[in-house]
This record gives sequence, structure tokens and C-alpha cells, in this order.
Amino acid sequence: GTLIVELGDRSYPIHIGQGLLEQAGVYFARHGMSRKSPHLIISDGNTAPLYLNRLTDSLAHSGYKVLSFIVQPGEKSKSLSVYEEVITAAIEGGLDRSSSIVALGGGVVGDLAGFAAASYMRGIRFIQIPTTILAHDSSVGGKVGINHPLAKNMIGAFHQPELVLYDVNTLLTLPPREVSAGLAEMLKHGLIWDADFARWCQEHADSLLALEPEVLEYGLEKGCAIKAKVVSQDERENGLRAILNLGHTIGHAIEAIAGYGTFLHGEAISIGMVGSAMLGVRLGADPSLVEETRSLLQSLRLPVALPRELDTDTLMGAMMHDKKFKEGSITFVVPLSIGQVEIRKDIPASLVREVVEQLK
Ligand code: NAD
Ligand code: ZN
Repeated sequence: GTLIVELGDRSYPIHIGQGLLEQAGVYFARHGMSRKSPHLIISDGNTAPLYLNRLTDSLAHSGYKVLSFIVQPGEKSKSLSVYEEVITAAIEGGLDRSSSIVALGGGVVGDLAGFAAASYMRGIRFIQIPTTILAHDSSVGGKVGINHPLAKNMIGAFHQPELVLYDVNTLLTLPPREVSAGLAEMLKHGLIWDADFARWCQEHADSLLALEPEVLEYGLEKGCAIKAKVVSQDERENGLRAILNLGHTIGHAIEAIAGYGTFLHGEAISIGMVGSAMLGVRLGADPSLVEETRSLLQSLRLPVALPRELDTDTLMGAMMHDKKFKEGSITFVVPLSIGQVEIRKDIPASLVREVVEQLK
């Protein structure tokens, strides 16, 4: 299907389906992309060997000039030095104002290529071809950027893609852990906004894990649609958009201290979402909320507890470095029930500590 994302005075389509990679040239043409100017594809060392040829063939077949630049897989490619390499490739390749930068890969490639597109010649067109489930999250909202050695996502911009081509066939090669981690963000969209969708994720968990195309298409479209709804009501992050951070305060702290690569982002926020449910119950939600949340996450083969050996003080310390922490209380997205959350700015650190203990 096709979802039109409308943000401010701009809108762009997210096409989700099978075999879109092979039709990229057709979509480029339909979108009025320039055949005179070169287009630069950014991909990574895992994705490029699998899918780059199919994309370049399709574009070349429709008469497009394409160049490609392959980065190493992983978060380390969201760096200033790799960014410089991408800009160098763009200059050497003769990209001009009518060119585009195309991201073929997961969220890492998307953020890096998107930031290059946002900044090259003060902004050229950006096309996203996501190849992970998690990247449905980055295909809406326009956030692009890279990391600074001192802080993640510290350098960036808002730059909406021109077009998103989500070919669910490309997801078939994802490692199982990446599949579950991506589904954590999909389920999150249900947990913050739409109880029916959260339950749908559970009912279709086996089909989602098996990467059945039609089921994935529906889930990705729904996830993107919910995010679009939230973001369009709060494009520059003043209030509502914060609900997208459900599970992320604890999740980011877990990622920061558990050692790089121990937990994938989706796994860390899964544990964080259980913690948020525990907090919700302490603040008045029905006690069944914790078990319900756990069971939803477990159906997607996600972790729901902290390793016992993880030190509570260290985790609390990492949370206090989080920008949402102010003078002994934390801003937290707190669930009221499945599908409904509220933003609370007054959560005492002591209460969070109790939840962390309970998570072990
Ligand atoms: P990723 O891009 O690193 O992909 C995960 C792994 O899967 C990598 O090893 C990659 O090489 C591999 N891979 C990708 N596609 C594959 C395929 N089809 N088959 C086999 N292997 C494949 O990570 P991700 O989880 O997609 O995204 C995480 C990044 O996204 C983080 O940097 C995060 O900050 C960013 N992000 C951005 C936004 C946003 O709004 N801009 C939102 C969420 C996350
Ligand atoms: Zn996230």
C-alpha cells in the first residue's frame, strides 16, 4: 500500500510492498527525478552485496545516472569522518541541486545519507529505501543525523525524504534478533496510540517473525501511520512527540551501560517498556498492565527483564545523564493502559530505582 505522510506544507509517499526495489526506476520517473544529474546511493557492507545491484540495475534501466558509496555496517558509520567521505563522494561524483542521495539500508544508513542530503549544497533530495523493520521508525519524522564521539545523534537536521520505497522482500535476509528488535518499535506504536494494533501485533506475532509479506506490509504501514499522526501534530518536538519515547529513558540507559552490542536498541526499549508499565501501575494503572505488556513483547521474542548482574546505581547514573533528567525527577512516558500513555515530568528518581530493581 501507499501511505502519504503530510507534514507542514509538504507531503511525501511511503510505498510499502513486494518487489519495489526492482521498480525503483519507475518510481523515480513518476516522481520527476532528474535524468541529467547523478544520484548517489549510500549502503552498508551487509546490505549492498544483497541489494545494491538490483537497485542500480532498475535505475540504470530507466535512464538514471547512479553512483554508490558503501560504508561499514554499524553505528560507527554515523560519524563525522564517514559523513565527510560521503560528501567527498558527492562532490567527486558531480552531484548538483537536482541530484538526490539515496539510502539503501537500515536506520544507520538512513540517518547518515539523510544528513548528507540535508547539508550537501544546503539540501538536496533524499530518497529512503529501508531494509530493516526498525527503519520504519526513521522513515517518518524527518530526523537525520550523525553521532559525535561525546554524544549520540548530536549533529543533525530535519530533512523529509522525497519518497520512501519499502520493499518487504528485502527484510527476508534480516537476522532474527534484528527482526524482533524492529518489531519492538512497531509494537511501541500500538502501545502509545492504538490498543487494537498492539493486540494485532500479538495475534500475528508468528507471521511477523516469519516475515510474511502481507502481514509485514500491514504492520509497517500502521506503525508509520501512527508515527506520522503523532509527528504531524508536533513537528518540532514540543510536547506530544515525546510519547514516541516510551521505554526509551530506561532503554537508552541500558544501551549505554550494557556494553556496545550487548542489547540491540529494540531489545533495550523492550525492557524499558516493561519498566514503564511497572511505573504506570505504581501510579494507578491496573496491575494487569505489567503482565499484559510482558506477554505482548514476549510474543515477539523480546527480552522483558534486566540481567541480574546489571548494577542499579550504574543504570541510574546513565539515566541521570539523559537530557530528560532534572533535579531528582525524570520526565517519563507512563502507560495508563495498553494503547494509552501520558507524559509525566515529575517522576521521582527513587520510584524509577524501585522499578529497575523490579525489572531484574
Ligand atoms: P542498522 O542500519 O545498523 O541495521 C541493523 C543491521 O542489519 C546492520 O548490521 C545492517 O548492516 C544489517 N542489515 C540491514 N538491512 C539488512 C537486510 N535487509 N538483510 C540483512 N542485514 C541487514 O540499524 P537499524 O536498527 O535499522 O537502525 C538503527 C539506527 O537508526 C540507529 O542509529 C538509530 O539512531 C537510528 N534511528 C533513527 C530514527 C530517526 O527518526 N531518524 C529513528 C529510529 C532509529
Ligand atoms: Zn527507538
